[in-house]
Amino acid sequence: MLGMAQGCFDQTISYLQERKQFGSRLIDFQGMQHQVSEVATEIEAARLMVYNAARMKDNGFDFIKEAAMAKYYSSVIATKTTSRCVEWMGGVGFTKDYPIEKYYRDCKIGTIYGGTSNIQLNTIAKLVDAEYKK
Ligand SMILES: Cc1cc2nc3c(=O)[nH]c(=O)nc-3n(C[C@H](O)[C@H](O)[C@H](O)COP(=O)(O)OP(=O)(O)OC[C@H]3O[C@@H](n4cnc5c(N)ncnc54)[C@H](O)[C@@H]3O)c2cc1C
Repeated sequence: MLGMAQGCFDQTISYLQERKQFGSRLIDFQGMQHQVSEVATEIEAARLMVYNAARMKDNGFDFIKEAAMAKYYSSVIATKTTSRCVEWMGGVGFTKDYPIEKYYRDCKIGTIYGGTSNIQLNTIAKLVDAEYKK
């Protein structure tokens, strides 16, 4: 999911740097910049969560909660990123001339396979409950 979000984002940013409207590159509009910054930050947060869960597993720590959080959050962010990318591309984002619409469709699987988002949230809730048990 993280790779899907990153790949979609990378290709969309290149387009925003090339496409001009009203005499400016799309990426130079502040309304776009704020959205791009928000999504870039969220992808980075998802990446750190994935790497952290992997690091915990590699080092023999309990990692189930962190892995469930990383999987859940990466799916949320992939959904948001690919949806925003379609919008940022304008009309061509919706067409098959660019791969962005496919990222948007494909990312939906992240909320289903490898444990649905609901099941990740169940796991997180159980482990939070256990963590705070007196
Ligand atoms: C493209 C693809 C590839 C897959 N690859 C694999 C694979 O390699 N290996 C493998 O083992 N499986 C694989 N799967 C299966 C996948 O893991 C399951 O589809 C997934 O776990 C959901 O199970 P289900 O389809 O039976 O949905 P259901 O369990 O019927 O879930 C339907 C909905 O109900 C919700 N739900 C179910 N139980 C609860 C609950 N207790 N609390 C709250 N909500 C709940 C779910 O979150 C979901 O929204 C794949 C599926 C797809 C589509």
